[in-house]
Amino acid sequence: MPKKHGVAELRDKVRGCLVGTAVGDALGMPCEMMTRSDREQVLGKITEYRDSSARYSRGLTKGQWTDDTRLTLATAQGFTDAMRAPGGCTLAVITEKTLVRYIEAYREHKDRGFGKTTRTSLEDRMAGRNPHDGRNPVRPGNGCAMKSAILGVYSALSFLHAPPMFSLEDLSGEIGLLTHHDARSLTAGLIQALAAKMYVISPEIDTAEFVRYLRGGAWMYEREHPELPGGSPTISDVLSKLLLLGEASDELIADMIKTGGAAYESFPTALAYAIKYKNDFRGAVLAGANAGGDTDTIAAMAGALVGARLGMGAIPAEWIQGLEAHDEIIHIADEFFDAAFALVTVKTLKGP
Ligand SMILES: [Mg+2]
Repeated sequence: MPKKHGVAELRDKVRGCLVGTAVGDALGMPCEMMTRSDREQVLGKITEYRDSSARYSRGLTKGQWTDDTRLTLATAQGFTDAMRAPGGCTLAVITEKTLVRYIEAYREHKDRGFGKTTRTSLEDRMAGRNPHDGRNPVRPGNGCAMKSAILGVYSALSFLHAPPMFSLEDLSGEIGLLTHHDARSLTAGLIQALAAKMYVISPEIDTAEFVRYLRGGAWMYEREHPELPGGSPTISDVLSKLLLLGEASDELIADMIKTGGAAYESFPTALAYAIKYKNDFRGAVLAGANAGGDTDTIAAMAGALVGARLGMGAIPAEWIQGLEAHDEIIHIADEFFDAAFALVTVKTLKGP
């Protein structure tokens, strides 16, 4: 049985998801796309915020975050806009409002390491073109998973308080397609959201059961969407490895699953850290920040999951204080929670 949640606890989990993303992102930012040995030589072990030593985040200083946080916040804001839309909150309204926020984020923070697929897709959409019409190469990037945990938290709120208005598959799929088209990207986006949802509604779930559930969700989504371009390995292939990790060290996890920007590397690695350190926010994000490869995104995804699971109270206070725009992030989380809570509560009272 899912455990009962109080309103204050649920609000704290929404904050934990967004602040957790940003804290992980800021910790991994200084060594984005450096190898683990280069990071060791240049920065030593990451244990706190540092100035950037990486090409992708050049010029950023300690406590600043990158595209992962900016797009996660834009996803929360777009969804909040949709939940407040006078005409009602439909999937089409959510996608439309989210796209507006993505374009706003891109224009404002283009220099924060936006991935190639996201940049190309948003440029196309601004020009009124469909980015998935065959002109652009299809890449399996992690850009859906890095920003989708908040969708799972919404789904948890609606699951706890009302019949869901949309399936999480449709929600993460429609939002994912704004920027990405590869089956691996979209599946990882769904499974990151599903993991966040499960961490909110069933925090006591057994680890093996959790992994099997997520792997089953990935397998099903892959089979239900043969129209999506893709390749090997699939997300469900790689999630199978998570059952074999046992007590593996952080480094062995990074070496077994890999840490590149592809959704089938960085996402399952982040998930493995979020499982290993499910009750230790600090452990989860530092494992991601020190993994080598796409560290800002790995730490952001792990931070989103463990933050949603444990709430903002589990995030070290000095990391919240030192985080760029932390008050604004908490405000965006609260606005999201208030809009979602109002929507699902009204729906509960009215019925389906
Ligand atoms: Mg980034």
